[in-house]
Amino acid sequence: MTSLQIPVDILPLDGRFGAGPSKVRAEQIDHLIEHQDILGTSHRQAPVKDLVGRVRTGIAELFNLPEGYEVVLGNGGSTAFWDVLAASLIERRSAHLSFGEFGAKCVTSASAPWLDAPHVVKTEPGTVGHFEPVAGADVYAWPHNETSTGASAPIKRVEGADDGALMVVDATSAAGGIAMDPHDFDVYYFAPQKNFASDGGLWFALLSPAAIARVEKIAASDRHIPPFLSLQAAVENSRLNQTLNTPALATLLLMEAQVEWMNQLGGLDACAHVTAHNSHLLYSWAESHELLSPFVENPEHRSPVIVTLDVDSRVDATVLTTILRANGVVDTEPYRKLGRNQIRIATFVGVSTDDVERLMSSIDFVLAHLLGEGS
Ligand SMILES: *Cc1c(COP(=O)(O)O)cnc(C)c1O
Repeated sequence: MTSLQIPVDILPLDGRFGAGPSKVRAEQIDHLIEHQDILGTSHRQAPVKDLVGRVRTGIAELFNLPEGYEVVLGNGGSTAFWDVLAASLIERRSAHLSFGEFGAKCVTSASAPWLDAPHVVKTEPGTVGHFEPVAGADVYAWPHNETSTGASAPIKRVEGADDGALMVVDATSAAGGIAMDPHDFDVYYFAPQKNFASDGGLWFALLSPAAIARVEKIAASDRHIPPFLSLQAAVENSRLNQTLNTPALATLLLMEAQVEWMNQLGGLDACAHVTAHNSHLLYSWAESHELLSPFVENPEHRSPVIVTLDVDSRVDATVLTTILRANGVVDTEPYRKLGRNQIRIATFVGVSTDDVERLMSSIDFVLAHLLGEGS
């Protein structure tokens, strides 16, 4: 059955639906080739520094950052930033929403011996928890979009939080695909391999003036901070359009092309409109489907960029995703540790509506064959 061929006229033109690394648009590759003279040149010289500067300016424009907010970057991806958070941002104690794998990993990093044990609001995968104010918490941390489950949390300041408590958001898969107001966060961090359709390995963080002040305060304290985890060092380097150590130049070029394209689309609101439209097509299709249903029950928490759909037990989702993969439609498998009979589809900004529609037709085609086979 895995040799089942999906008719070419309903196959997506681009079969990449993965949650990251995600589909890279052809225009980004063109941009990379056009600027290939930058590859293999010093990151301490003007051409690369100008590139970093254009990416930082483009991001500030995309997110419509208020006066005083800064775009900072460093190496190591979002996973490295969790340790940056523990080393450079949490003063004594953090509070977390944990409703999936990525939120839980952030808690692990924040459980550092030099900090008080974090306060954790843990809820079931597919749900989104809610913060009550926690006395003594100087950081509230949560994922904007939990990529392992397809649940998305609102971005708003915690009412009743201690004065000066920072709102720190893991926006790795949300950034650029979901609208929010930058006044509602102090730190919004992400990596380039999701909506930005670039490669992994870097982290970007949007920092409010309060976050920058906190970074300076901790850097000036007697805490030992490994240089790689020093956000102060990253802030200082970023202001010079540099990174502490060598960044991947091709990644920055792919990123530049995508940020430019997103700004041309009309900025964050326009991008969020695209992802909302495409994800809505999938959710409404699944809601009226005999064999599919949205995993996240509360429609308000259904992610516009990561669509998780449970598959009826009459069909083995692994067979479905294997057939799709054999036909060039890849990475629709669910998050490995979730362990559900499920498919997961990324509807990042660069994924076209036409391909989402073709994907639904392709899945319907395969499901019809699988059901026919079973009866
Ligand atoms: C992908 C992802 C990460 C991990 O990003 P890396 O760059 O691989 O470290 C962290 N958080 C969320 C929400 C993600 O989607």
